[in-house]
Amino acid sequence: MIHHYETVIGLEVHVQLTTRTKIFCGCSTEFGRTPNSQTCPVCLGLPGALPVLNRQAVELAIRTGLATNCRIAPRSIFARKNYFYPDLPKGYQISQFELPVCEHGWLDIELAGGSSKRIGITRAHMEEDAGKLIHGETPDTVGCSLVDLNRACTPLLEIVSEPDLRSADEAIAYLKKLHQIVVYLGVCDGNLEEGSFRCDANVSVRPYGQAEFGTRAELKNINSFRFIKQAIEYEVERQIDLIESGGKVIQETRLFDSSTGMTRSMRGKEEAHDYRYFPDPDLVPLVISQKWIAEVRSTLPELPDAKRRRFIEELGLPVYDAEVLSADRAVADYFDTCVALAKDAKTCANWVMGEVLRKLKETETSLAAAPVTPELLSGLLARIADNTISGKIAKTVFEKMWQSGRTADQVIDMEGLKQVTDTKAIESLVDEVIAANPDQVAEYLDGKDKLIGFFVGKVMQASQGKANPGMVNQLLKKKLTGN
Ligand SMILES: [Zn+2]
Repeated sequence: MIHHYETVIGLEVHVQLTTRTKIFCGCSTEFGRTPNSQTCPVCLGLPGALPVLNRQAVELAIRTGLATNCRIAPRSIFARKNYFYPDLPKGYQISQFELPVCEHGWLDIELAGGSSKRIGITRAHMEEDAGKLIHGETPDTVGCSLVDLNRACTPLLEIVSEPDLRSADEAIAYLKKLHQIVVYLGVCDGNLEEGSFRCDANVSVRPYGQAEFGTRAELKNINSFRFIKQAIEYEVERQIDLIESGGKVIQETRLFDSSTGMTRSMRGKEEAHDYRYFPDPDLVPLVISQKWIAEVRSTLPELPDAKRRRFIEELGLPVYDAEVLSADRAVADYFDTCVALAKDAKTCANWVMGEVLRKLKETETSLAAAPVTPELLSGLLARIADNTISGKIAKTVFEKMWQSGRTADQVIDMEGLKQVTDTKAIESLVDEVIAANPDQVAEYLDGKDKLIGFFVGKVMQASQGKANPGMVNQLLKKKLTGN
């Protein structure tokens, strides 16, 4: 079906900042503890309790702002956003409104086909999270709703994009890029299931060529990339069908139901809130000095895009390798250490992307806990480079290193895996194989060149994989043809 409509999407992402304590009190932010065990008068909203801003939360917000090319406001204000809900005992949420800490940023996303597109970031503001309602799940709580305020007052950074995204795929590319950056920065653990990275999507359609936006629907709190894509795609179809059949899109908040793949209305515009924002009298304006910004800037890590470029331009890696190796910071650091020690970037890339990542997946190990460290791996690569072992035997050695945590040299010694480069020893194996396979020899001499692979295989087998393959090849050809 060809649509004559253009999709317009803007995203609001709530990033939970990785502070140890909450944004306005000293309670722990640890996830999954006994309900209400991490609360105090401030986050319970008791009268007279005074909030105190967490400096670390501000620092993480600055970090994120710098990494997403935002301007950091020298002065920003915390406001009260007034509304009633059982998970919000104060009756208001503290959030930045008119003067947010970050503004006017952007991110570049890669599109299918290799081009890239710049997506504007309108603003990023700090706020506290609300608590959580738990709707009766056990026999004695069926029909009840329970309030857990452990999450109340957890620091969030809400990052609001410009309505620059034109498809569900672009939205996902943006979200993945943003997710990668906040995890790289260490400002967020990136856990979508635990709600550390949540997305609201504003979706509308308009006829191509029309300048003004169509009426938008807001899709709330979707917690997986796959569901966000499904929700946007469903919503776009729904709005187009509605317009085509003579209806009108109304501004409303919609919920995505992952079991049906559909969105449904949650509340309409007539219920839209007027939050009566006003500056929180308990909090002084947040003033950020240029010196502080410079200090934070100096601690920023190399970000994924810069890493990918460096891997391609300085290390000469193919684009695919550079993408895989820069996607995760731990993998990139591991790879960088390997290259520093072993020099040959492409060989390091092959081993990290191949054996190391495979083994991590197979054993469900994190890179930090991998028994084969970059130092050990580069030791193994050195033994391939100096012909002590073949690339094939190296895989066996790697396996044993992983099991034992030993160095390549120790494993090679203990298992007697040293490559045979002694011409005489290989020659005698070659002679045996030639003598044992007269028919194949005749066929080979008849012009069936491909049989050389058969002979090499036999000799390698006879040497238990230890013969130097290059020498085997050379000696076989020499013996078979007699020159
Ligand atoms: Zn507290």
